[in-house]
Amino acid sequence: MTQTVLVAGGAGYIGSHTCLALKEAGFEPIVFDNFSNGHKEFVQWGPYFEGDIQNREDVAAVFEEYNPIGVLHFAALIEVGESVKDPLAFHQNNVAGAINLIAASKAAGVKGFVFSSTCATYGEPQKLPMDETHPQLPLNPYGRSKLLVEQVLEDLREYSDFPSAVLRYFNAAGADPQARIGEWHEPETHAIPIALDNALGLRSGFRINGTDYGTRDGTCVRDYIHVLDLADAHVKALQYLLKGNKGGAFNLGTGDGTTVKELLETIQTVTGKSFDAAPGPRREGDSPSLVAENSKAFTELGWKPERDLETIVRDAWAWHQKLRG
Ligand code: UDP
Repeated sequence: MTQTVLVAGGAGYIGSHTCLALKEAGFEPIVFDNFSNGHKEFVQWGPYFEGDIQNREDVAAVFEEYNPIGVLHFAALIEVGESVKDPLAFHQNNVAGAINLIAASKAAGVKGFVFSSTCATYGEPQKLPMDETHPQLPLNPYGRSKLLVEQVLEDLREYSDFPSAVLRYFNAAGADPQARIGEWHEPETHAIPIALDNALGLRSGFRINGTDYGTRDGTCVRDYIHVLDLADAHVKALQYLLKGNKGGAFNLGTGDGTTVKELLETIQTVTGKSFDAAPGPRREGDSPSLVAENSKAFTELGWKPERDLETIVRDAWAWHQKLRG
């Protein structure tokens, strides 16, 4: 019998790509989403249940209906700037909501819980690349909300029988190569879609957030990881937990850093479109450099990213033209 997996936030960017990967791996993904930021059009690989992680009755009802073997939790508020303006909303949704879901999962005897975390839990880099033992000192309420849930899960791994994998994403990017789903945020703040809007002529000029960092060309370094590689890591993490492993935290990045200027060059080459990029001030809370040390995910989960930056940009471009073109 096909095993069902509950995907909270499965109508969002990374959640929907993970539903595709789950389906391909033989699971039945059940999307649980309040559609505040997710898109009904992205639910293509199984049924959905409209509900909110903050509402215990909704959560109880979806467990009752589908009896999932595993739970993947993506549903979260993610805008760092918003988290500074309204920290309580972040803690209510990202922490209290996650605890509701964890409690229901534990009560239902779920065999594996996979949590979307972030390299934003590390804060200022103290060494690069960053491995999972890097100190976690988040710079904003968003990062702190993710860290708090990580700590809850760590306690449950340590002091009760509740296996979980905490996946710390670096910069998720790219899209399904068939352009059925992709990155779609309103408003858009991320570097790649903003640059692609410029390539399409929908914006005039890309503003580089700071050119005076101590990096090789003065602009911020990020580790861009293809969303399908992230999706694959979730399936592997779930399978690892279902085999009886207790779990832990894993970095998901490529280990390669790209500066904003290098990213723009790749985007102009891949799209064949040139556009203006002008230096601007630093963006508050930006870390100069975030690059993953990713060997733990390889050793324990057997996961290795397979797609390079050109592939990321090519797939993002195909999707972006469909979305905005
Ligand atoms: N960035 C930029 N101009 C933009 C958007 C982003 O220079 O219009 C920079 C941003 O400051 C960061 C990098 O591009 O250094 C990646 O930003 P993004 O928002 O995509 O991801 P983040 O690293 O903030 O999660």
